Amino acid sequence: MNRAGKYLIECLYPNKCAACGEILGDESVLCEYCKSCINQIDYKNWCSKCGQSKDVCRCNSREFRFLGVTAAYINEGAAKKAYYSYKFGRRKELGPFFAEKTANAVRTVFGNMEFDALMCVPNTKRSLLRRGFDHGNSIALLLSKKLDLPYVRGVLRVRAFRKPQHKSEFVKRLENVRGKYYTVKSLNLNRVLLFDDIFTTGSTLDECAKELMFAGVREVYCASVLSVRLRKRPAEPAVKVDSVIQDKTQEI
Ligand SMILES: [Zn+2]
Ligand SMILES: [Zn+2]
Repeated sequence: MNRAGKYLIECLYPNKCAACGEILGDESVLCEYCKSCINQIDYKNWCSKCGQSKDVCRCNSREFRFLGVTAAYINEGAAKKAYYSYKFGRRKELGPFFAEKTANAVRTVFGNMEFDALMCVPNTKRSLLRRGFDHGNSIALLLSKKLDLPYVRGVLRVRAFRKPQHKSEFVKRLENVRGKYYTVKSLNLNRVLLFDDIFTTGSTLDECAKELMFAGVREVYCASVLSVRLRKRPAEPAVKVDSVIQDKTQEI
């Protein structure tokens, strides 16, 4: 395309900030404001075992089959808006940006750990038809190139459509994913990096990790673009010592 053609395209379809939609004068993904307040993960205070900040670490209450998880951003604010404009707004040109950020998250949290392959949590045909493209697979493919890992596709599969997860509560989510994924051949792999675009409760990745391990993978680590931040549980109401003594006295 010649320069005049490029100029015309830029006038008709100006580049917009992926999060707030402000028109940008260059090829950036985010405007300066959204860049400054995007929901970065504080990796120094990040529990890579359960995928939460250390103040809401769930390692004592929940065990996962995967051994670690990292993500590029918290699923809130500018990061969420930008990713959703890729996923639901079909701004496919944002894929390389999110793949690069996820690759950085892998390098930061897993350091020089060696992986044998990258795999992706598969989507149902119905959800692919609804979105018009395979958003997760597109990022996983780019991620495998950035991390220089072989991309193993088609071995981990998903069964027919069930209720969309985001409409379910935690226990329902657990039930929804049980038996949903399966593998079609054995895998003689030591360590696999498993990608899913959004890390929510960890149920999906845990179920996939279980299937991969059943197929022969020895260790599974996970990476996501976004991680849902769990709310801090309210502190247990303080029990007054006096009232406990009083109750005991009444029992006697
Ligand atoms: Zn913006
Ligand atoms: Zn933890």
